Amino acid sequence: MFPPGPIQPGTQVRLCDHDPDFCGGYRKGDREARRQRAEDLQAMCDLQERLYAEGKQSLLIILQGLDTAGKDGTIRHVLRGLDVQGCAVTSFKVPTAEELAHDFLWRVHPHVPAAGQIAVFNRSHYEDVLVVRVHGLAPESVWRRRYDQINAFEELLAASGTRILKFFLHISQEEQKRRLEKRLATPAKQWKISAHDLPERRLWDDYLAAYEEALSRCSTAVAPWYVIPANHKWYRNLAVAHVIARTLREMDPQWPPPQVDLSQVVIE
Ligand code: AMP
Ligand code: MG
Repeated sequence: MFPPGPIQPGTQVRLCDHDPDFCGGYRKGDREARRQRAEDLQAMCDLQERLYAEGKQSLLIILQGLDTAGKDGTIRHVLRGLDVQGCAVTSFKVPTAEELAHDFLWRVHPHVPAAGQIAVFNRSHYEDVLVVRVHGLAPESVWRRRYDQINAFEELLAASGTRILKFFLHISQEEQKRRLEKRLATPAKQWKISAHDLPERRLWDDYLAAYEEALSRCSTAVAPWYVIPANHKWYRNLAVAHVIARTLREMDPQWPPPQVDLSQVVIE
């Protein structure tokens, strides 16, 4: 349904129950959908300014999804209205040797948002229970403990004034094939193709199983997961923008009071 709701804590997620083609009852170009999106983008922009001025709360947005799911596109289309002064995007890549020599959250913690800020993670600490699990990059006894460690980490952030939203951009295997073919045929997109994208595609079922467990075990009251149907980019953008705007409205940041007695101020 539109608007999208969070995965309720304790739910056993089955991704086959979530239709990646779902469009919330809208059709592409519907006036109502366009109006809703414009309203939400404007609200994000206005509320971010108040969040920044207030300087007390912060928002962390985590984007995850299989290759071509649209993480970059969501950042480009949904977050473009934000003031870059109060917003930072961090992309998590294959860990460096230095990062691997620390605990898996070491490289993540410095990028969480400070009070007044919005931070966006393009991939995140969830890779440490996804790619790491699928490729056996750490023993099972190590990655199995990480679900609880992630929940504890996110609870710490929440207790420190950070709202957390986690979006799984859900595409079908056929849609991924179409997008990879388009990438291959479009010079401006060819740079995005990496040697591992095609072998990764064969591990589709393993990735879905890893995602199902992460979504099931780590959707909590303070850090909910949302499964966003993402075969249709316009609907993905509409849904993500709506959840972010709704969350900022709930956070209800306030303009701080003036720092001086305004009645005494004279501008000469
Ligand atoms: P991209 O998002 O296309 O730039 O690719 C980034 C790559 O880094 C993906 O293949 C991720 O799976 C990989 N990656 C991100 N985090 C980790 C991690 N913690 N361990 C191993 N690989 C990772
Ligand atoms: Mg990639």
